[in-house]
Amino acid sequence: MNTQMIDGKLIAQTIKDELKVKVETLKNQGLTPGLAVILVGENPASQVYVSNKKKACEYIGIKSFSYELPSETTEKEVLELVETLNNDSAVHGILVQLPLPKHMDEQKIILKIDPVKDVDGFHPYNVGALSIGLNGLVSCTPAGVIELLKRTNIEIQGKNCVVVGRSNIVGKPVSLLLLREHGTVTICHSRTKNLHAVVGQADIVIAAVGIAKFISGSMLKPGAVVIDVGINRDENGKLCGDVDFESCKGIASHITPVPGGVGPMTIAMLMHNCVLAAKNQGGF
Ligand code: NDP
Repeated sequence: MNTQMIDGKLIAQTIKDELKVKVETLKNQGLTPGLAVILVGENPASQVYVSNKKKACEYIGIKSFSYELPSETTEKEVLELVETLNNDSAVHGILVQLPLPKHMDEQKIILKIDPVKDVDGFHPYNVGALSIGLNGLVSCTPAGVIELLKRTNIEIQGKNCVVVGRSNIVGKPVSLLLLREHGTVTICHSRTKNLHAVVGQADIVIAAVGIAKFISGSMLKPGAVVIDVGINRDENGKLCGDVDFESCKGIASHITPVPGGVGPMTIAMLMHNCVLAAKNQGGF
């Protein structure tokens, strides 16, 4: 079988270009979408993520407001900043870069964000909206997975979808989204028995385990579609996913690479959420 690579970088670029046009139109109508990003502390990975988000905003025409705070910042100060941004009409999206320093309660801070500005889709209001099928802001990585499938013309309806991982930020929301698209969804986790057999039934496999090269080609049904959410380092320090890419070649019908698969989609969907939040708040 000829395994087709799903080019997340290219799809993400297309989405950003579409958003650029939408933002131009909104600006002509007097609305400039604004995203506030709060970064606390000096986590190098977080600094890279935040800088990439700012670059994407610049490219699309979203105004970014950046708050880079020292690690000694108190929880109360962050809560007050979120409250100020909740009331700022130039800010349509608020993103608190996680992880926060240990002395802060992440949940308390996420709860403080006005759900209409919660562009990460982590607020329980948006999580609840997703689970009962209401409109809301959907978290970016899971939304990116669905967008990759749709834009590759992979049908989800009626397909056996196996999600490996049940975290609140990836596994659970991606499962709900697949269900919303009428997939038949199985969620696996560390206590799942006979994972090989379960994955072997899948038409679509979503790997969100956090273990390098955990899913191998020998586990797959021939022709399965494989979406790799993982971001890990292999034994040589090289970036790799939760899927053993090489062993899936010739068995999977489609596969996402790492890097260049789901990763770029996360930022594209964040930008999508910012534009959506701005439109909703601007009454468009
Ligand atoms: P978590 O560590 O929060 O969750 C991992 C999940 O995998 C858990 O549900 C866990 O089960 C399950 N798991 C662990 N071991 C096994 C096993 N042996 N068999 C079956 N299931 C197992 O990770 P995240 O969901 O946050 O992230 C998953 C991956 O995605 C990571 O590599 C992360 O870096 C990456 N990621 C990528 C993003 C992107 O933008 N591309 C964004 C977010 C994450 P249990 O619940 O039982 O413990």
